[in-house]
Amino acid sequence: MRGVGCMNNNREGSSLSTISNTLSAVKSKPRSHSINYVSSDYESLDYDHYESELTVREEKLNGYKTVVASNVIRWLIYFSIAICTAAVGIFIDTVIEYFCNWKFQSIRNCIDVKHSTVECLIIWILFTVIPTIIGCCVVLFMEPSAAGSGIPFVISYLNGIRIPRMTAVRCLLVKVISVVCVCIAGLGGGKEGPLIHIGAMVGGSVVEAWWKGFRNGPGRKVIGPLQNDRERRDMMAAGAAAGLSAAFGSPVGGTLMSLEEGTSFWSSSLMWKVFFCAAIAFPTYNAGKNVLFSNNTNPSESVHRKSIYFFGKFNENTIYFSYSEFPIFIIFGIFGGLLGALFVNINYHLSIFRMKHIISNRKKLMESVFVAVFVAIINLTSMILLNNCQTKLEISSSNVVQMYCPAGSYNEISSFWLHTPEESIRSLFHYPIEAYSVVPLLVYCVIYFILTELTVGLNMSAGLFLPSLLIGAAWGRIASIVIHYYSPGTIGDDPGKYALLGAAAQLGGIVRATISLTVVFIEATGNVQFLLPLMITLFTAKWTGDFFTDGIYEMQIKLSGVPLLVSEPPPLTSDITTEDFMSDTVCAIPHILMVGKLVDILNTTKHNGFPVVASKVCFCRTRNIEHKCYGLLKGFILRSQLNAILEHNLYLTPLHDENYCIKLELLRKSTYTCHNTQQFQRLKVDEDERSIVIDLGPYMNSAPYIVRLETSLSRTFRLFRTLGLRHIVVINNTNEVVGIVTRKDLAKFRLWRKAATMGLKEVNVY
Ligand code: ATP
Repeated sequence: MRGVGCMNNNREGSSLSTISNTLSAVKSKPRSHSINYVSSDYESLDYDHYESELTVREEKLNGYKTVVASNVIRWLIYFSIAICTAAVGIFIDTVIEYFCNWKFQSIRNCIDVKHSTVECLIIWILFTVIPTIIGCCVVLFMEPSAAGSGIPFVISYLNGIRIPRMTAVRCLLVKVISVVCVCIAGLGGGKEGPLIHIGAMVGGSVVEAWWKGFRNGPGRKVIGPLQNDRERRDMMAAGAAAGLSAAFGSPVGGTLMSLEEGTSFWSSSLMWKVFFCAAIAFPTYNAGKNVLFSNNTNPSESVHRKSIYFFGKFNENTIYFSYSEFPIFIIFGIFGGLLGALFVNINYHLSIFRMKHIISNRKKLMESVFVAVFVAIINLTSMILLNNCQTKLEISSSNVVQMYCPAGSYNEISSFWLHTPEESIRSLFHYPIEAYSVVPLLVYCVIYFILTELTVGLNMSAGLFLPSLLIGAAWGRIASIVIHYYSPGTIGDDPGKYALLGAAAQLGGIVRATISLTVVFIEATGNVQFLLPLMITLFTAKWTGDFFTDGIYEMQIKLSGVPLLVSEPPPLTSDITTEDFMSDTVCAIPHILMVGKLVDILNTTKHNGFPVVASKVCFCRTRNIEHKCYGLLKGFILRSQLNAILEHNLYLTPLHDENYCIKLELLRKSTYTCHNTQQFQRLKVDEDERSIVIDLGPYMNSAPYIVRLETSLSRTFRLFRTLGLRHIVVINNTNEVVGIVTRKDLAKFRLWRKAATMGLKEVNVY
């Protein structure tokens, strides 16, 4: 015996034929090497409130005191997320600082004291290759999901997609080791992006630790209401904001970045919690760093460190702009947008190449080693070939080499390679106009662009925030020199303003964030005066970049087949109704059924959610299409909840007694601990229990979200996106189930970019 309509075992049931003339519908069967596929490997999260008879009873019994206690615990969790994220950030910084100093000192000694190019090259290669091998091996052999900046994963998770191992402690450890190695090796990757992912992982891990800590004690009923995907999502959003806040010293920017890039659902209470977390992380991180690095002897560096501004404070008396400079800001934005689009495009093709040809772990490791050797060789070669000499000017002599330059001067490009990216960005923003000349800046900009392209996509944990800022600051400074040459008055006393705008344009052109980046720049420079130029540049960069390509994160998400729902429904789709894209062969479960029948349904299907119905199969007709009805809708139940009912024999204990709390806890636990493999394990029950009758009424969500057959695609899309839904049941005008829609059914509708420009003709996406 089976549930109503549970005969088919496949997960792709929707019919797309009627709409293929307007949209390119994307098959859900994995088709790699393309941005036009949706992988069926990803599951959705349940951000919807789980409301059942059990939860209502629990709420009544617990009363107001428990609500207050849960709130207190919630704030404590947010507080601990902020502290832990800041602590991890401080640890990463300290290790990087220590090893980079050792590396730079060794290279400097070798070049200026021993004068042996071959020896120096070997030392440089060793300092680059060894950390690269460590950073790559930990990712490849311990936790492949720690590769990359991790921001696309954070965006996907906050959007409602379960990313396997996203909150595993091992992933967190591997990420930390790998990002440290990338920075020590001096590859084209930064720690700021990974810190956002690390913050989100800390958020997920900390909340799980709290859940586990309270699970068995009297605090069980206090932590109970916090044990769901929605709370965890909020805490991960807060962790991500704390990561950015610590990385750039930008609490408001971190909060806004979490909003702009991450969560599809936002409320003022969530904003407040996220902001609280970001606001705690920033001073904690800053205080920790000041304590650790307070006895630094290098005067120019300690000035930067004492400053709470990540980019160093921009002096309001020397940095100013006039309205006649607006065209320059727009040109900067356009240039940043174009370079950003070029970056994304090259990265896209490189990723496809890697997916096709660099598949085995051996090849992946070899690729990383090749990039590391290339970095060492190109760094040293550029110093030898481009022997531009500068007199020692502001730059601390500990981090530059004299090389072939006369006494009292230094090799100009060495100041880039023998500084950490954080120090380089501050010097590009603050050193006087004579400190750098055009050719070294140009060479640095081109080399760093190539290095970043090669590094992003390696099997290591590397972010592209700082590399993008460096590329932009370098070309911004070139522009500054050129403008100064032709019109000395425009630059004023501070050449850093164009470097800052270049950095903003480049980062905006690659990641396409606007509001959050504007605020990050203001907070990291401590200068509100530059708000208008930054806004103009960032808007123009986004518009220009968007005209040519998606942002880098969007591209990476599409490439990995994540069924992400973009912020807006596809255009020109109001004539498409739910009836056109729903699954009309629904596996529905009768409200009251025998245990054996339920086990058979779970063992023969792969669906994660089932409408619960009062059995009565019938037929109804709309627009000349005949639909099968699966019975009157009673509620909705998840596979994980059914699994828990069967595994813990909940059907054997009577419902109307105190044990419903235990039942509720088991149901809750099942939803957040179940992984794909556990979820679909074959269930077995004793033969004599198969005939026991079970009533799903108290366990199911008795008021699930529903849409009617006539509901438009855009309305269904908005419901999913804003409410963070996983399934939605389609009913006819007599409240009978006729279909089901999931996130993947909607994610299939990715408008192929060119369709719009081609007048929406049928487009072959493959
Ligand atoms: P998720 O994987 O997002 O947690 P799920 O496994 O329940 O959810 P999907 O994998 O998104 O569902 O669905 C694959 C296909 O199966 C979709 O076309 C969807 O409409 C269909 N589907 C989902 N649930 C049912 C069901 N109970 N009965 C019939 N078809 C379903």
